[in-house]
Amino acid sequence: MSVPNYEEARALDAQDLLAGYRERFWIPPSPVDPRKEAIYLCGNSLGLQPKTTRGALLQELDDWQRLGVEGHFEAKTPWYSYHEVLREPAARLVGAHPDEVVVMNSLTVNLHLLMLSFYRPTPERPQIVIDGPCFPSDVYAVKSQLRLHGYDPEEHLRWLRPREGEHCLRTEDAEAYLAEHGQRVALVLVTGVNYLTGQRMDLARITAAGHAQGATVGVDLAHATGNVPLKLHDWGVDFAAWCSYKYLNAGPGSLGGAFVHRKHLGQGSAEAFAAFRAQPRCEGWWGNDPDSRFAMEGEFVPVTRADAWQLSNPPIFAMTPVKTSLELFDEVGIDALRAKSEALTGYLERLIDAIPGEAFQVVTPRDPASRGCQLSILVHERPEELFKALQAAGVVCDFRRPNVIRVAPAPFYNRFEDCWAFAQVLRQALAA
Ligand SMILES: *Cc1c(COP(=O)(O)O)cnc(C)c1O
Repeated sequence: MSVPNYEEARALDAQDLLAGYRERFWIPPSPVDPRKEAIYLCGNSLGLQPKTTRGALLQELDDWQRLGVEGHFEAKTPWYSYHEVLREPAARLVGAHPDEVVVMNSLTVNLHLLMLSFYRPTPERPQIVIDGPCFPSDVYAVKSQLRLHGYDPEEHLRWLRPREGEHCLRTEDAEAYLAEHGQRVALVLVTGVNYLTGQRMDLARITAAGHAQGATVGVDLAHATGNVPLKLHDWGVDFAAWCSYKYLNAGPGSLGGAFVHRKHLGQGSAEAFAAFRAQPRCEGWWGNDPDSRFAMEGEFVPVTRADAWQLSNPPIFAMTPVKTSLELFDEVGIDALRAKSEALTGYLERLIDAIPGEAFQVVTPRDPASRGCQLSILVHERPEELFKALQAAGVVCDFRRPNVIRVAPAPFYNRFEDCWAFAQVLRQALAA
């Protein structure tokens, strides 16, 4: 087997200004040859561990050991205000003002907490619209929200879907649907980057289309945060939620984040605050204004930030990996990462396109502006066998039944050489 592109891959890595960041992560050994590194293309599912995370976690254990309860104020990063440290870097990643963002809970939990406030159906306007294909947890969440309000999901959950024979949703189709049916829609819940196809949605246009009909617009950013630049505030998105174990590299099941637009935060006037205070929401002491958090009267006074949706005092050992992750993002900046990401994914696409035959097709949009770093490969014949062959050659990627292999070169730690190696393996597996 000739290796025509290897030198090119090496040259691209040599020019890569972010190449040094790979050293800042633990790259797992190859599952088939522990002397080598894995060809890890699975950051869309679980990002790799930053080397700073272990030490930061040990620091928290040490502080607890040394300080006990005093750690709330005396720890190196005081626990009482720990979530404040994450606010600004998280806001930078999603294009928000710091008061619009809070790191808490996990993704599906946050979607529910936010829908309890922002999905307010009426008999005239009961529907939820989502985009398909949709991640199962989101479908469960919206169906159960409909039922919580006494609406039948069969009737009142509506889907924006790709056209027959296509794999990705056209923005103009979403707009047309909402223009025609939006009067009945209470909530549009769209994904920032589709988990299955890797399509990046035009959130500015879809938000505008929902708002034009009087609907609320929420966004699931599971595959978008840390992957593509976002401007939630400017786009006018009402609320959003994300997880941080995918492109944010904060570890399995790590804490998610939530965004609530300033227009919903009761700021600026007594009337706005009164409406904010009266808004239905699940309430707990960590959502209360810190100035009266410990008051005994039991009158909830929401803080005029996204933190109003916080319930409990936060789990410090879960926040620490988010902190070390966000420090890395702040060091590099999402724009520099995105520039590398476009080059890396474009390179992978070229290599895959050069593989002869009709055995598969890439269903991710070809336009770099309409995708993040993931490419989704739809395999026409014996997809699971192909996936197993990739695994047997040391590739870590993932398989979505029945027939989609997802590969995601993450710009933080993946090399052009990884893309090259993957394409070699794919070519050989298909030839076999
Ligand atoms: C990864 C992912 C989830 C996972 O939800 P958790 O609550 O974090 O377990 C949900 N929705 C989407 C779209 C995802 O990609």
